[in-house]
Order: sequence, then structure tokens, then C-alpha cells
Amino acid sequence: MVILLENTKKISLVVPCHNEQENISLFYEECKKTFINMDVLVEIVFVDDGSRDNTIDELRKLEAEKNFEIKIINFSRNFGKEAAMYAGLKRTTGDYVVIIDADLQQRPELILKMLEIVENNDHYDCVCYYQEKRKESNIISFFKKKFYKIISKMSDVEFVNGASDFRLFRRYVVDAILNLEEKNRFSKGIFSWVGFKTCYIPYIPDDRIHGKSNFNFKSLFKYAISGILSFSIAPLRIATYSGLLFSLVAFIYMIIIIIQKLLFTIDVPGYATLLSCVLLIGGLILFCLGIMGDYIARIYIETKNRPIFIEKEYIQKGHLNNKED
Ligand code: UDP
Ligand code: MG
Repeated sequence: MVILLENTKKISLVVPCHNEQENISLFYEECKKTFINMDVLVEIVFVDDGSRDNTIDELRKLEAEKNFEIKIINFSRNFGKEAAMYAGLKRTTGDYVVIIDADLQQRPELILKMLEIVENNDHYDCVCYYQEKRKESNIISFFKKKFYKIISKMSDVEFVNGASDFRLFRRYVVDAILNLEEKNRFSKGIFSWVGFKTCYIPYIPDDRIHGKSNFNFKSLFKYAISGILSFSIAPLRIATYSGLLFSLVAFIYMIIIIIQKLLFTIDVPGYATLLSCVLLIGGLILFCLGIMGDYIARIYIETKNRPIFIEKEYIQKGHLNNKED
């Protein structure tokens, strides 16, 4: 597919990498194939997010490449994909910015479709690929679906089921995203929160050929909780509403007991009833305290104002053009 862009535009790719040594050169080759015949400037911002393998050496090899402007950010440790995306976005200078995984599950050639959409539709500011059919195990895809339903109901921003981080933004959207400097970053929420018009298009991710996924059930669960806490204060209301409900029930029960005492012989409630009430209410109080604790922990982390990531080194290689020499 050959797309003609109006004027020569610059496209920035942000590529978070964590233990992707086998994928870097393959990814780069795919990018070359994708953009080779296009009149565009391409910069690729690779972020090595504290890899324990030779990812950084593979990235350094690309310094010699002349096709694209290469930028490499080397983190001092693993700060997570959210931090890597933020750091990468900060270094971009393109008119269009694309976030894409390094593992080739999101094929670089799919960027062309996104470019076609923004070039031909001025009213779209972002393009986002979403998974129509999930490839993961049934249980994970069941929980993911539920998560999107719950978080959409609880918060004011829209969360599209299956929406990935594989997105294209116009420059001003990236600037808006970077303006949000919160430390607990939940990018899917941030991308929706900043607004703008997004075009959602379906895609089927490829299988991972090299390396393995960095996200297991436990980390996805933590990610889901972090998303809810970042974008909704609804859990805090559990205490208010359940407190109201219990007070109402207790009040009705009190009236019943008074009537029983005045009119009939007193029927003393049994040990089991008492104990289960105490345990239930105790459990609920602890649960609500835990939720409050989670929010307080977030305030604590935000107030410490630590940086989102630490760069150990930053390498920038000048731009030539995307045609083969
Ligand atoms: N990644 C990262 N830091 C992390 C975990 C992942 O930069 O702590 C990168 C990873 O190298 C890949 C992308 O984020 O390019 C998506 O990760 P992965 O493929 O493990 O996730 P999945 O596709 O299984 O959701
Ligand atoms: Mg992947």
C-alpha cells in the first residue's frame, strides 16, 4: 500500500522494549519495509526498560543504520511499560506519533492504515487498534471484558473493550498527554481522559515468536485495580452507601426489638446471629479502610514527586532519509 501524505510529514514511533533482544532487528527490518517507499521522515524512539538480556546491545547496533532517525533511551532499571511510553513520547518530535510494541505482535505495516485514516479525515485526532476477538485464554479474556465494563461504569471516561496501546496521535494530542504528569500512570485512561476524536479499528495481534509476554494474570489484575483507582472515586463511596444501608437495617431492627420488648416477651437473639453480624460489619469496615488506604497510598506516592523514570543514557542518531542508500 502506498499512501501519499500531504507535504513531507514526520512520523515518530515509540517502542517500549523489555527483554526483546531477538525482536529488535526483526522489528527494524519490518519498519524499513513499511516506510521504504514513502515520502516521510521517520524517527524511532526505542526505550530499553531495564532489560536483563542484550536488548541494549541490539539497539546500539541500529546506531549505524541510516534509514531512520534513531533515538535510544536506556532506563536505569525496569520502570514498566507505562513509564517507557511516557519517556518515549517525551522524546518524539513528529507530526504523527505511534506507540507500538517491539515484539511484532503489532505489525508495523498496520501503521499505514492509521496514517491513511488521519490523512483523509481531518476530524480524527487519534487512531486506536482494538482486538475484536481476543486470543488469550478464555479466563483472561472474560476478566478483561468485565474490567472494561466495570471501569467504564465507574469513571467518567470511555474505555473501549479490547483497545490496545497501539495508537497514532496527532502532535497536539501527545502534548496534551505529556501535560498530565501523574506518577501512577494508567495510559489507557489518560488517552481517553484527554479527549479528542479517536477512530477505533479492529486488528488481530500476531503470536509472539520470540521472548515471552511480560504480563501474567497477577500483573494484569494489579493493572486493572490501578486503572480503577486512577480513574474513579466510586470505590470510596462503598463505605458511605454500605454504612447508610447498615444504619437503616439497624434502625428497623431496633424498632422491632422495642415493639417486642413492650408488647411481647423478649426474644433474645442467638449467639450465631450476633457473631455473624459482628464479623460481617467488621469485615466491611476493614474492606472500606483498605480501599481508603489504597487511595492514600496513591496520594503519598504522588506527593513524593519522584520522577516517572530515570534515564541512564540517551542516544540520538541523526536523520538521513528512509530510502535505501
Ligand atoms: N514492556 C516494557 N516494560 C515492561 C513490560 C513490557 O517496555 O515492564 C514492553 C514489551 O517489551 C513490549 C510491550 O511492552 O514491547 C508489550 O509487552 P508484552 O508483549 O509483554 O505484553 P502483551 O503483548 O503480552 O500484552
Ligand atoms: Mg506482546
